Amino acid sequence: MIDVAVVGGGPSGLAAAVRLAEKGFDVAIIEVMGELGGMLEQCIHDGFGTKFFGETLSGPEFAERFVKKAYSLGIQVFLNTYVKEVKAGGGLKEIVAVSSSGVQRLETRVIVYAIGCRERNGFEIRLGGTRPAGVYTAGMVQRLINLYGVLPGRRILIMGGGDVGMIVARHLHLEGVESILIVFPEAGFAGLPRNVQQCVLDFGIPFRPRTVVKKIIGKERVEGVVLTRVDEKWNPIEGTEEFYACDTVILALGLVPYTCELKLGVRIDPATRGPEVNEFFETSVEGVFAVGNLVQVFDYVDDAVETACIAARGVEKYLNGELKTSPVRLVPSGKVRMIVPQRVEWVDEEDVVAFLRPAVEKSNARIEVRNSEGRVLGGFFRRYVRPSTLERIEVSRSLFSGQREVTVDIADS
Ligand SMILES: Cc1cc2nc3c(=O)[nH]c(=O)nc-3n(C[C@H](O)[C@H](O)[C@H](O)COP(=O)(O)OP(=O)(O)OC[C@H]3O[C@@H](n4cnc5c(N)ncnc54)[C@H](O)[C@@H]3O)c2cc1C
Repeated sequence: MIDVAVVGGGPSGLAAAVRLAEKGFDVAIIEVMGELGGMLEQCIHDGFGTKFFGETLSGPEFAERFVKKAYSLGIQVFLNTYVKEVKAGGGLKEIVAVSSSGVQRLETRVIVYAIGCRERNGFEIRLGGTRPAGVYTAGMVQRLINLYGVLPGRRILIMGGGDVGMIVARHLHLEGVESILIVFPEAGFAGLPRNVQQCVLDFGIPFRPRTVVKKIIGKERVEGVVLTRVDEKWNPIEGTEEFYACDTVILALGLVPYTCELKLGVRIDPATRGPEVNEFFETSVEGVFAVGNLVQVFDYVDDAVETACIAARGVEKYLNGELKTSPVRLVPSGKVRMIVPQRVEWVDEEDVVAFLRPAVEKSNARIEVRNSEGRVLGGFFRRYVRPSTLERIEVSRSLFSGQREVTVDIADS
């Protein structure tokens, strides 16, 4: 039996495993792919680690720091191993995993899930037309170019104006493709302003807001798409359809926590689409933790890794049998779309770190924590908030005392 099984060997799984091994726990990592590092292995651009290491690193460089540490600490690593089943009744948990060497059973006291997120696909947005070759998700394109040296096409249409779409557009531009067009239904890009400037504007890559692909055209290979303009509610505007010639369509439609791969009945938050967690990232099943992009899609890997570091403290508290109190629920209200954690319930000294996604764009804003009668318990000034930027606040634990529920909203400063 081991103390902790970490499922997923991306940056958050690695960070949790390393922190726990440093505390002296017996830890194993189970990873379905043939290498550690998760999404970062294919993200060869820089921009990683600015918060966590205070340096700008490429994805593989960021991951390597944790991979080296994991091996030097003697953490057991199971690669090419898929978690098929998990039994989590009472204190002990059993993981049934499959690999080329057969079925393995692992008994553990704690499970930390760090399986990241998946890319939304064309079926989820009811993309019409035929199904020719040449339609890829952005992550697949990134993998083809960066890991296998394969260019997916020459005349590119990218659907989606989020960070991933912009990063892939810049990459294809630098690889010398003939043409790129980014289309998205919003009035402006949905990603970080930093990426709008550095990935799109700096390279003069064409883009069309309030535009969507109505259908894909092509028999063997993509020959083009039918574009249509949309209104503020994303309804197609009649008479605006137009054919656009391209040989490749890239779906950069957003990321969704990989909850379908959780093999237990943990409670899911419909707002984040990830598991509900407490302030130490423990799910609704005792002794089962969830970290990183599985909990919610983070803008920066640094924040995903921070959740793993916080969870490592929670795992330690759980294994030491420390006390919980009655939970206080954290509820997003009005101008906040989602919040993590969804509850606070441990006895602890330190402030509670919460991540929230604004539903509005606003200058001179105040993030307010209120009790159930609407009284303001605490506030955090921000010069500017926008939906594309996740906000991180540190809430004094004393604010939760005597409450059953607090709401978090954004007000004028
Ligand atoms: C195109 C793109 C560009 C990005 N650019 C940046 C950037 O510039 N800066 C930045 O800070 N962040 C960036 N990110 C985000 C960054 O990649 C993520 O924040 C980070 O990878 C999240 O780490 P994670 O460990 O939570 O998930 P992941 O990195 O996704 O790791 C999850 C791991 O779990 C494994 N797994 C899944 N299911 C199972 C299973 N059933 N059993 C075992 N293992 C499993 C997966 O194989 C994977 O290794 C980018 C992401 C993308 C997609």
